Amino acid sequence: MRAACDELHASLRRRFKGDLIRPGETGYEQARAIWNALAVRKPGLIARCSDISDVQAAIRTASAIGILTAIRCGGHSLAGFGTCDGGLVIDLSKMRQVKVDAEKRRARLAGGCLLGSVDSATQRVDLVFPSGVVSHTGAAGLILGGGTGWLTRRFGLSCDNVERFTLVTADGSVVHSSEKENLDLFWALRGGGGNFGVVTEFEVKLHPLTSVLLAEGLTPEGNIRSLLEYWRDIMAEAPFDFKWNVNLRLAPHNENLPPELRGQPVASSSVAWTGKPEAGALYLDRALSMCSRDSEKRRTVTFIDLQTMADSDFPHGRRYYTKSGYFANLSDSSIDRMVEALPTVPSSDTQIELAYLGGEAARVGPAETAFGDRSAPFIVNLLASWSETSADAQNISWVRELFNKLRPAMKPGVYTNFMSGDEQDRVPEAYHERWDRIVAVKSHYDPRNFFRLNQNIPPRN
Ligand SMILES: Cc1cc2nc3c(=O)[nH]c(=O)nc-3n(C[C@H](O)[C@H](O)[C@H](O)COP(=O)(O)OP(=O)(O)OC[C@H]3O[C@@H](n4cnc5c(N)ncnc54)[C@H](O)[C@@H]3O)c2cc1C
Repeated sequence: MRAACDELHASLRRRFKGDLIRPGETGYEQARAIWNALAVRKPGLIARCSDISDVQAAIRTASAIGILTAIRCGGHSLAGFGTCDGGLVIDLSKMRQVKVDAEKRRARLAGGCLLGSVDSATQRVDLVFPSGVVSHTGAAGLILGGGTGWLTRRFGLSCDNVERFTLVTADGSVVHSSEKENLDLFWALRGGGGNFGVVTEFEVKLHPLTSVLLAEGLTPEGNIRSLLEYWRDIMAEAPFDFKWNVNLRLAPHNENLPPELRGQPVASSSVAWTGKPEAGALYLDRALSMCSRDSEKRRTVTFIDLQTMADSDFPHGRRYYTKSGYFANLSDSSIDRMVEALPTVPSSDTQIELAYLGGEAARVGPAETAFGDRSAPFIVNLLASWSETSADAQNISWVRELFNKLRPAMKPGVYTNFMSGDEQDRVPEAYHERWDRIVAVKSHYDPRNFFRLNQNIPPRN
């Protein structure tokens, strides 16, 4: 692999406008770092592209030499797909331009944007693009997998708001895809991840929004079961403006929290209302009705505050492991399994994240995009987070054991953006009845599986 990387470097050096960074060179250690320390690798060459012609050059040369290639936008793939050992990383972090057309409510996002770059550009003209909840996440990886967040119920998944993709395919060609061009590819790119090429530009729809009502509160261990039963019933009837996420975790040792809750199992509710403020109070009251009074917080926040408030809870460089699935119905016994597991969690930063999809996202028909499952509204994500290498086995086992207990009640399927690196066997399950169609698109655009460091869809031989 070393000789292949030397050949790649020698060939690219003459025409590449961005940075080519090799092991031992200044900036290499910083450039190889990704968000999940559990998945850190040592690539043989990092090609930080300046523009689409750099992306084309990197793909054509790497493909001709036959070198393992990873594509990186924000480097937040939980599985670590934005890097590799010994091969090439095509790094898009210099390509973070966002061009907004306020009048048409449209934007063009370059392929290396972070969510924060998108939010700050669109908020300058009081518009939003619906994306995820942590601003240092890469927009490209998130959108291509689907993209869920605070605004999913109101405006749909991130991928539902893309009107046109520009990408470089495995042979180095530039291809456009929309409702009018390459329709099968347009279908596949909305949920199919990085399987089809490097997207260098997303043309997206924007929506007006500048602030939201936000409420937060903690429910003590003894009331978590009742809270989750109440949550599942309320969400089934809730308006699209209402988003209520529940995380089960150990409460932090934070002096702003009631002393009796610190370090104890709790359900942490975060509730956002994006509609007319006067109509939201009732829903916020309901959501907080089972929280400890001393833990409650309510305020109006700017959209930027909403989008950045969780940033420090998911820092770069910790160790993370996840397993996820859908429930069509959240049964009492599934609730019991989660509540029982909470006191045994090995790390106080680990969370059982529960979100209710539905809303605008569920209005899109199952065959309209490649995205996983729009009919099962409950997404559960078991996200372990810890810092010591010596604690890897204990934390990973905790997630796997709880997942195995929950799995029989889950609907087959998984949201690919919430998958770890050891779950390749679940990729067909993620696309289930759409599998043959997505394999056909992959076989057409990437017949040699050049783009394989992803939740991989192998082409037909
Ligand atoms: C802290 C954190 C918060 C998150 N929050 C949310 C959330 O709120 N909602 C949600 O839906 N998901 C969320 N996720 C999951 C997230 O969507 C995925 O981890 C996603 O893959 C991250 O994208 P990235 O560009 O940062 O990752 P990278 O590691 O850079 O890339 C991930 C994958 O996308 C491919 N890829 C990246 N850029 C391109 C491109 N331009 N063209 C083609 N393929 C490309 C890569 O090949 C790779 O397979 C979160 C993840 C983290 C770590």
